Amino acid sequence: MPDRGKLSDIELKIRSVMLALDMGECVALSKIPYQQYEQADGNGKKRLLKAKLEDICRLAGVSMTENLRCLMHEGDDRPSMHLYPDRFYCFACQSSLDLFDLMKHLLDERSFEKRRQMAERWLVAREDEAAVAVTYAPVVDTKSAELIAMINRYGQPADANPYCMAYLRSRGITPETARRIGLLCYENPYTNDRFLAVPCGAKHYVVRVYANRSGNADKYRNAGEITLFQAQSWNACRDETVVFVTESSLCAIVLAQMNFQSVALNGVNYKRLLDAADVIARKKLKIVMLCDNEEVGLQCGVKCAEAIRKLPSSFDFLYHHKLFSPETILTKHKDVNEAYAADPRQTEEALRKIEMFAQRREDEEYLPGCIAW
Ligand SMILES: [Zn+2]
Repeated sequence: MPDRGKLSDIELKIRSVMLALDMGECVALSKIPYQQYEQADGNGKKRLLKAKLEDICRLAGVSMTENLRCLMHEGDDRPSMHLYPDRFYCFACQSSLDLFDLMKHLLDERSFEKRRQMAERWLVAREDEAAVAVTYAPVVDTKSAELIAMINRYGQPADANPYCMAYLRSRGITPETARRIGLLCYENPYTNDRFLAVPCGAKHYVVRVYANRSGNADKYRNAGEITLFQAQSWNACRDETVVFVTESSLCAIVLAQMNFQSVALNGVNYKRLLDAADVIARKKLKIVMLCDNEEVGLQCGVKCAEAIRKLPSSFDFLYHHKLFSPETILTKHKDVNEAYAADPRQTEEALRKIEMFAQRREDEEYLPGCIAW
C-alpha cells in the first residue's frame, strides 16, 4: 500500500472513488452495458474499461480542462499533466497512466489480472442491470467516507467473529455486551488489518485496530466527526445519577457491562462534555471523570474542573487520578479497562465506593475537584 501521507489530494480522491466502487457504493457512474462488453474482444474489453477513467476522475473532482501537477514526478510546479478520456499524460516527464496503472499505483494491486477483474466488477453492468446510474453519493471527507464504506461493506457483529471476540475477552468484554452495544468488526481486504468499530451515534464510529498485520494501521480513527460514546446516557438516566466519563470507549463499555452509567470522550477533548452542560445541570447528574493515570489524563481532569467552575450552569464534577485519589486497583492501572481485565471484582468494588461518594456529596459544599476522602 503506498504511503498515504505522500499521496496528493487528487490521488486520495481518485482512490476514494475506487474504494467506493469496490465496496459497491452507489456512485453516479454509468456502467458499460453488458451486451456491448460481452461482444467485444480482449483488447476491446480493455479499451472499454480504460475509457471509464474519465468518469472516475470526474467523480473525484479532477479538472478535465486545466493541467494538474504530475502524479509521477516531483516538483511539478507549473502543472504539466493532462487528463485525456482514457489516460493521464505528463508533457514534462512523458509519463502515461491509464486506469490499470492508476489502480496499481493507488491500490497497490500488482497483478494485472486481478486489476482487470476488479475493474470489470466496478464498471460493467450485470446482465440484468440497467447501465445508467441513478443515484449519486458525493465523496465528501475522503478519510471518513472510506472508513464508513469499509464498515458498511465488510463489517460484521463482533460477537460473531472469533478473532475479535478473543480480543474483546482479553479486555474483559463479554459477547452479550458486544451484542448489546452493537460492536462491529471488519478486516481491511487491502492490508488485512483487523479493526473493532464502536458505534457512537448514527453513522459514527470509533475504529481501533486489534490486529495490525501491515504494521501501518492507525491505532484509532474516527469515522465521522469525533463524537461521544453513549452520549444518549445524559437523557436516558434518571435525575441525580452518577455518570462515569472515560477517555476510551473500551473503558465506558466495561462500565456499562457492570451496569454503571458511562460516556466516553473518545480522547481527551473535554469540551464535548461541556457541550452537554445544560442537560447535565438540569438533571443534576453527578459526573465522575475517570482520568487515565497519566499526565495527559490528569490535565484533562484539572482543566475540565476549571472550565466547569466558570460555566453559568455548572454541575457536580469529580475526577479520579492516581495522584490524588485513594489507592485502589484503579490507581494501579492505566485505566478502568486495564484494571477490569486484571480483576473485575475489585474494580467493581472500587467503582461502587466512588459512586457512593459522589452521590452523598452535599450540594452546598459542591466544588468541582478531585476524588479524595
Ligand atoms: Zn511528469
